[in-house]
Amino acid sequence: MSETRSDVIPRAAAGGRATSAPIMGRAAEPTIFELSESGRSSYQLRTTGIPERSLADLIPGDHLRPEAPPLAEVSERDLVAHFTRLSARQFSVDLGAYPLGSCTMKYNPKVCDAVAGLAGLAQVHPGAPAHLVQGWLEILVDLEAALCEITGMAAATLQPAAGAAGELTGLLLMRAWHDANGEQRRRVIIPDSAHGTNPASVTLGGYEVTTVPSDERGCVDMAALRSVLDTDVAGIMLTNPNTLGLFEEDIAEVAEAVHEVGGLLYYDGANLNAILGVVRPGDMGFDIVHMNLHKTFATPHGGGGPGAGPVAVSERLVDFLPGPKPARLDDESGDRFGWITPPRSIGRVHGWHGNALVLARALTYIEVHGADGLRRVAERAVLNANWIRRRLAGSFDVAYDRPCMHEVVFSASALRKDEGIKALDVAKRLLEEGFHSPTVYFPLIVDEALMIEPTETESPQTLEALADALERIVAEARSGDHSATEAPRTTPVRRVDEARAARTLVPTFDARGD
Ligand SMILES: *Cc1c(COP(=O)(O)O)cnc(C)c1O
Repeated sequence: MSETRSDVIPRAAAGGRATSAPIMGRAAEPTIFELSESGRSSYQLRTTGIPERSLADLIPGDHLRPEAPPLAEVSERDLVAHFTRLSARQFSVDLGAYPLGSCTMKYNPKVCDAVAGLAGLAQVHPGAPAHLVQGWLEILVDLEAALCEITGMAAATLQPAAGAAGELTGLLLMRAWHDANGEQRRRVIIPDSAHGTNPASVTLGGYEVTTVPSDERGCVDMAALRSVLDTDVAGIMLTNPNTLGLFEEDIAEVAEAVHEVGGLLYYDGANLNAILGVVRPGDMGFDIVHMNLHKTFATPHGGGGPGAGPVAVSERLVDFLPGPKPARLDDESGDRFGWITPPRSIGRVHGWHGNALVLARALTYIEVHGADGLRRVAERAVLNANWIRRRLAGSFDVAYDRPCMHEVVFSASALRKDEGIKALDVAKRLLEEGFHSPTVYFPLIVDEALMIEPTETESPQTLEALADALERIVAEARSGDHSATEAPRTTPVRRVDEARAARTLVPTFDARGD
């Protein structure tokens, strides 16, 4: 290193390793560590003439690590090429429709990223004192108000980092409420169509799961529900529209019956796409609702995050919310915004204040749409799913054939019986057609389930092409061509051993190669 202090400036294309190989179809992309060359970097230090001080002068010795971390050393040019290749390797979210049911892989407008990238938002330390981050606090307060307006609830916490984290928070709130009433209830009711995170969260929250079956219309079986309701029930967790894409028709009755035994109603609002601006969980009688901002409110997701799972509650649970909580202060003379801790708070559920840039994206999405725009999101999401339902009714059985909400569940049961082509084969074959696979084998109560959520962001032309592709796949199988069992044949990664991948997960790469 030189004797003078330096500024950091980007270095252009040093020792580029980029190739002109096509992005799609590459068999192997090395890890960033395999691309590493000692001494190569994405910046260079320009001498400025100002005397340089060594790290040891600036940082106390016991805070310095003995050796540099084994980070990859690559040029900016190689770095960009590497991640661009990875982003388009198996399937590119920017290049095609992603009809993965229950996941809401809508197109995320770039304006949300532009806002989240503003230096005043992105480069703020989460521990900055309140008087330096008044703007950030206002964003959080406004988002809480918007989410409460959308859900019909009284207050919300923005801390939980994902849907499942929101569920656990909601169950801890449920427990705190019953504790405060001097009650020790043990059971939480969940319909058999629920997302797998629901029973997992109930167990983590220290409760026992009681499952209620769905009736022949795909909704909660009211008689079965009544038969398990007593004063040992802490509450019910409902997804509405449920995971079959159907609106729970007896929702008001469910709410009344559960409240009658003193239980609380939890709304799994991971996906609000179908109801935005149309109906509100609060008006249906719910006490707790979590939302997945990364699904409904436009943060790119998949591959594990970042997400945000705010939890909104009715009036009676407001005092139990996690703290600290951003708040508008009444204090005329001092800061307009600050942090408060609700009087009977269950405490923190996340370090700092959740995934803040996801929260900034969500408020942007809400603000640019406005109430009318959000309602149009819901109307088009529902229209698109119903168009797909009708169009593909001749190719697959529709699990519950009545108007659906934002997603539709088909069954490939007949195709499997007649031709030996499973839902999984159809899903893999669709990758060859340039579409991401739909969700398969969920919900568990539908045999050979294929769950399609087109979202509101796909055009009629794209939906047409998706439907054409699925029809082609079915026609091909019906004509005796069973090559779908070999699909995907055009992607760099073919079929993986899913059981082994789940059981022998290797999520790390040893940079030293030993
Ligand atoms: C996605 C989803 C969840 C879980 O959300 P994560 O953010 O993945 O933890 C819970 N319930 C439903 C209905 C979902 O679709």
